[in-house]
Amino acid sequence: MPLLFGTAKFNEQEHLTIGGCDTVVLAEKYGTPLFVYDVAHIRERARGFKQTFNSLGVKNKVIYASKAFCCLAMYKLLEEEELGCDVVSGGELYTAIKGGMSPENIEFHGNNKTKEELSYAVDQNVGMIIIDNFYEIDLLSTILKEKGKQQKVMFRITPGVDAETHEYILTGQVDSKFGFDVMSGQATDALEKILADENLLLKGAHCHIGSQIFSAEGFLAAVEKMLLILNDWKKTFGYTVDILNMGGGFGVQYTEADDPLEPEAFVKAIVNGVKGQCELLDYAFPEIWIEPGRSIIAEAGTTIYSIGSQKVIPDVRHYVSVDGGMGDNIRPALYDAVYDGFLANRISTEATQESRIVGKYCESGDVLIKNIELPPMNPEDLFAMTSTGAYGYSMANNYNRNLKPAVVFVENGQDKLAIRRETFEDLIALDCE
Ligand SMILES: *Cc1c(COP(=O)(O)O)cnc(C)c1O
Repeated sequence: MPLLFGTAKFNEQEHLTIGGCDTVVLAEKYGTPLFVYDVAHIRERARGFKQTFNSLGVKNKVIYASKAFCCLAMYKLLEEEELGCDVVSGGELYTAIKGGMSPENIEFHGNNKTKEELSYAVDQNVGMIIIDNFYEIDLLSTILKEKGKQQKVMFRITPGVDAETHEYILTGQVDSKFGFDVMSGQATDALEKILADENLLLKGAHCHIGSQIFSAEGFLAAVEKMLLILNDWKKTFGYTVDILNMGGGFGVQYTEADDPLEPEAFVKAIVNGVKGQCELLDYAFPEIWIEPGRSIIAEAGTTIYSIGSQKVIPDVRHYVSVDGGMGDNIRPALYDAVYDGFLANRISTEATQESRIVGKYCESGDVLIKNIELPPMNPEDLFAMTSTGAYGYSMANNYNRNLKPAVVFVENGQDKLAIRRETFEDLIALDCE
């Protein structure tokens, strides 16, 4: 039996169903490739974080990282679940506001926010801007003075914690383009500058140690370092944070080999860690914010592809091509991400064929799954690639002028189109003759 997430099941016709909807029917209705999102699973994950904080009586904000996947329907869902969101561009901010997110629940991140983006965020009254560097302190301060406004801010610190993960998605260590470094004294300089600026209302400190982290240890190490730094600043400057933002990066399951903690366990560990350090240092217990992206959305997403051509090189390899690839999921090509999958339209057929799932893009590196056992397949069979909800559609591109897929949300037997499939007209919409 393959690894199934959330409400995914097989019906008596041996079709994969998600949210009570038959994926074979969805593929007929919307075409392939198709992203199917299990809304109940998204809600369950969101509540796993939010309700654990609430049950522990800890003031909190759970802020969904938009970059994992966003669209109007997603923001509507976040509002329903009382989550905030972070945005890292004017485009994400625009989408969040159009999607009905209340500006107070939006925080703005990024290592190179432009003047236009910062102005736009200030005009929209976003709840928090996370300052990333010295250039931004000056830029934001100038904008605020011009507008005669004040802005709640935090500042991002790289605490120097190596979370054990892939180097491309490692951001908490010293050699990083993100945030103020502690060891060289930059973070302290930034603190002084921000505190001295009357337009910047400093609410706390932020760190994000990486992504796809399976255990609590990295977070506990970061909590310990952050509180030591904060306690130094309390002694030196008499400054105590209202909010400690521990970022995101909570791991998810892509294949049987992955064994991440549940959201509840991450939250409990972080809360206990902060409590322990605060008691030890006699530091006032702050509000705790986290920024889960992948852990809210990854496992909820499944991509349905149609099988097309196959190439068998005797004694070498069996290539199976699908009607998507690196345009709708660049992660395997970009950083060797590993996925799992199975036929969505007939589960019982025995998987006997060692295969490589490849896309239809003109790159040899356009591989979705390097090695997978699959049954003998026919054109038009449907392949379900699981746990594709994060950083799949959001990194989608139009390489080879392929169309971006459709995205459908399913829940309680209802399907609802969240993003329509691109058309050829969309493709040339920006071209000038
Ligand atoms: C990417 C990112 C997140 C979310 O990371 P996930 O691994 O998707 O949970 C949160 N905060 C910041 C600052 C990020 O850059």
